[in-house]
Amino acid sequence: MIKDFEYLAPKTLKDALTLLSQHREEAKLIAGGQSLLVLIKQGLVTPRYLIDINGTSNLDYINLDEKEGLRIGSLTSHRAIELSSVIRNRFGVLAEMEQGLASIQIRNWGTIGGNLCHADPAGDPAPPLIALKAKGKIASLSGERSLPLEEFFKDYFETALQADEMLTEIQVPNPSPHTGTAYTKFVLMEGDHSIVGVAVSLTLGSSDGACGDARIVLGAAAPVPMRAQKAEKVLVGKAIKDNVIEEAAQVASEESRPTSDVHGSEEYRRELVRVLVKRAAEEAIKRALLR
Ligand SMILES: Cc1cc2nc3c(=O)[nH]c(=O)nc-3n(C[C@H](O)[C@H](O)[C@H](O)COP(=O)(O)OP(=O)(O)OC[C@H]3O[C@@H](n4cnc5c(N)ncnc54)[C@H](O)[C@@H]3O)c2cc1C
Repeated sequence: MIKDFEYLAPKTLKDALTLLSQHREEAKLIAGGQSLLVLIKQGLVTPRYLIDINGTSNLDYINLDEKEGLRIGSLTSHRAIELSSVIRNRFGVLAEMEQGLASIQIRNWGTIGGNLCHADPAGDPAPPLIALKAKGKIASLSGERSLPLEEFFKDYFETALQADEMLTEIQVPNPSPHTGTAYTKFVLMEGDHSIVGVAVSLTLGSSDGACGDARIVLGAAAPVPMRAQKAEKVLVGKAIKDNVIEEAAQVASEESRPTSDVHGSEEYRRELVRVLVKRAAEEAIKRALLR
């Protein structure tokens, strides 16, 4: 049974932050409600105050600046990101990721900010965003700070947000030339949460074509979305051939930290990491060569 709560509907970001600062741990922000309502119905979360941030309309936007890169307001829906021509043309991996996230109905309601703040290790947006070097802009009444998304996730369903803080924007820099990024996930049914998801971003040097930079990010393979940094080191400085990709995939599998659950055992997930890193790296290199 749902416990009683007081519903608050601020109209501005400042009002939302004021309410959050007043009620702190007793309050929960609600955006699309696609994850929070499930937890409330199950009695796992029992807020005294529910702060609906949907009225703070200045947080729903997708902007591209040639210098600064992409800016996505935290209240932007998954569906808006999926359909955005700016994102399709310049950050195609994000539109592809959104296409495989849940159903259209859920993508219409769920927001990018809510997804990241829910911090489900199987969430789809975090791996490609971390691969793209994204940051989160965080606001409270005392000011703003910016945090690389790879530092945003602290543990299962836990983030670096303080009780009076809100995620307001996701910032994605323009990728360097000759960069290709791909995301792939393994699911039993289309639109499900991933059993493992992998994003790979590769940047090739313009003179020798060797790998200048690599980011490999694993989802659902550790308590938080994690960079496979040992595997990245296997790629950097080398010409990306099949044997190098296979070695990196093996190293990523070894450094992943999956746990067993009803969806898959630890061993099964490690094998998935190996297979998916290979697939995503092969796709990323193809894309890097076209840029
Ligand atoms: C059936 C089903 C299938 C799904 N499948 C997938 C899937 O395949 N992949 C996937 O990635 N996701 C999946 N989801 C999750 C979903 O798509 C949403 O991304 C997710 O529900 C969170 O977005 P929301 O806006 O609904 O957040 P809410 O449910 O409103 O909030 C989630 C949490 O974030 C907090 N919060 C929200 N906004 C902010 C903010 N701006 N600042 C600080 N805290 C905030 C809330 O307090 C709450 O703790 C699925 C959900 C359902 C119900």
